[in-house]
Amino acid sequence: MNCPKCGKAMREGYLFTSKDGAFSFANTVPGVFENAKNADGFVEITPLKPSHRVRIQANICEDCRTIVFDY
Ligand SMILES: [Zn+2]
Repeated sequence: MNCPKCGKAMREGYLFTSKDGAFSFANTVPGVFENAKNADGFVEITPLKPSHRVRIQANICEDCRTIVFDY
């Protein structure tokens, strides 16, 4: 897909969390035991899955620092 801001082609990869919940983006997702977390206002974007990082398939434009994903 193309970036909604600048119109350039976006690079497809995965948005995923580290064990402390920080999001990262990469072409592939390293495996790790994940901590399931529930919080107020929690929206399940990806289902809980033991022994995997939470990951979201997404598209990135590094020129204008935009990430687009569906859930
Ligand atoms: Zn862009």
